[in-house]
Amino acid sequence: MLPLRMIRLLTGFFILWTILWLTACERAPEKHHQDFYVFGTLVGVTLWAADDDQARAAFAELQARFQAMHEEWHPWNPGLLTDINQAFAEGRAVEATPGIVEMIRRSQEIESGSEGRFNPAIGRLVALWGFHTSDYPILGPPPAAESIGSLLSQRPSSLDIRIAGNTLSSTNPSVQLDFGGIAKGYAIDIACDLLRARGIENAIVNAGGDLRAIGRHGERAWRIAVRAPGGGVIGSLETGGDEAVFTSGNYERFRLDNEVRYPHILDPRTGWPVKDLASVTVIADEGILADAAATAITVAGLSGWEDVARKLGLDQVMVVDESGAVYLTRRMNERIELIEDTKKAVADF
Ligand code: ADP
Ligand code: MG
Repeated sequence: MLPLRMIRLLTGFFILWTILWLTACERAPEKHHQDFYVFGTLVGVTLWAADDDQARAAFAELQARFQAMHEEWHPWNPGLLTDINQAFAEGRAVEATPGIVEMIRRSQEIESGSEGRFNPAIGRLVALWGFHTSDYPILGPPPAAESIGSLLSQRPSSLDIRIAGNTLSSTNPSVQLDFGGIAKGYAIDIACDLLRARGIENAIVNAGGDLRAIGRHGERAWRIAVRAPGGGVIGSLETGGDEAVFTSGNYERFRLDNEVRYPHILDPRTGWPVKDLASVTVIADEGILADAAATAITVAGLSGWEDVARKLGLDQVMVVDESGAVYLTRRMNERIELIEDTKKAVADF
């Protein structure tokens, strides 16, 4: 038999241990943040983790995955994508990764849905314009019209690519993939999936305003700013649950020739940069769609944005023209809080 004092002491320890254990379990998740440099931009990740170890492990995995995507998908640094492009040019079949295959599949849908306005097979045209660089602005005159015309006449399209498992081949040797209009969106989706798989339910992955938010910001919804053309902020909105918000603009990356700006988004059907929209913002369930759609709608311009948004099944879209006037869908209008005195027109969908 244990003496009574000993039993009391043990009971006391047990109670104390239980209290400590319970408080440890109930400790509120904490906010953690880390920046990553990928695809030539800073990607900020903010997340709520149960403890430091969970956050550290998630950031380490993100770092490794971002680095791998950067190398695999780079449009001009020698790597897997340049090897694939080389194989297309030589008419050979080539092995890709599931990530690249997925981007091609989704690109094919979006290229069809936008009637060729989004087309990631125009790598040669992007290179001809000098946009395979990280140094903006590029100075000097645009390429010769004959050079543009000769690339156009070869009609590269993502739909020329045949997919068999992870093996790719192109029926058109002029196809050169450039995922500049879609890769950031897909990378952000992969990052969010990875966080969820680790049990992280509240996070934001933000590449300079292009982002996907899951869950909540602590006690409240995520509130995010929408970039204005030319810098600053044009409005803000709350994201709920799991949403991606992407903005394509023609004001950051461009060629400059005697005060004339040639932005980096090209109309694949003319070979020339598009200019009538200063920015396009799209909200969708996934980054991959929001990113590619923002590029497609930029090409569609003021006269075509509604039609392309509808064809891509999107009803949360806002476009800003060169004068700063805003045009937006009904649902986007309900959600976005624009800065005061913004001139706006609401579409009928
Ligand atoms: P940002 O990253 O500045 O928001 P986008 O997402 O619109 O811009 O992507 C622009 C990039 O996509 C270009 O730098 C080029 O690599 C590529 N691109 C340009 N025009 C098109 C197009 N019509 N379809 C698909 N990709 C394009
Ligand atoms: Mg895009």
